Amino acid sequence: MDDNDILTGTLAFHGHKCWASTAGVRLGLAAMAALGVERAGSKQLHAVIETGEYHGGMCFGDGIQFTTGCTFGKGNIEKSGEGKFAVTLIDKSTKRAVRVAYRPTLQPRIKASPFMQKRAAGVPPTEIPDEEQMEVVHLVWDAPAEEIMTVGPIEATAWSEPEEVVRFLVCPSCGELVAEPYARVAEGRVVCAACSGYPR
Ligand SMILES: [Zn+2]
Ligand SMILES: [Zn+2]
Repeated sequence: MDDNDILTGTLAFHGHKCWASTAGVRLGLAAMAALGVERAGSKQLHAVIETGEYHGGMCFGDGIQFTTGCTFGKGNIEKSGEGKFAVTLIDKSTKRAVRVAYRPTLQPRIKASPFMQKRAAGVPPTEIPDEEQMEVVHLVWDAPAEEIMTVGPIEATAWSEPEEVVRFLVCPSCGELVAEPYARVAEGRVVCAACSGYPR
């Protein structure tokens, strides 16, 4: 995939076109270039994104996920919950990390765009015309890197990978699949947490 394919793929995955998901792609690409690594097909990389919950611009995380291959499904990404637009990317094999932070130089132009005016008025992004969505995408996509991000130094980092348990059992009570570490013993039977009746 070239960079444009990654942007196209991200926007299709994300569901609409916006500045924050585009920023995630650009910062993700920059972090990978700084470390000299490829997109993680498995769990070679780990990402820590600084976005939080229930705030504008969380779309940033989808750009990071699609671009770096650090995904919530694979479990090699986490949120630090600071409500900020930065990513720390860790290359596990060399135990090196880099933090890339979004620079808000474009925010006055983004805020004034029809897209963000409508978003601020409560219009869902999917109901905003495609060309107005793409206007903010292009603002971020076409900007010089140094204008929209700060790439920090490559730093040594501690990393120890927790063991992944790849064993499952079928709960005899509900018949559903459960990963072994989550099974519970209740009245002498090994069942899923929901069927155990224990508080969770
Ligand atoms: Zn979005
Ligand atoms: Zn069960």
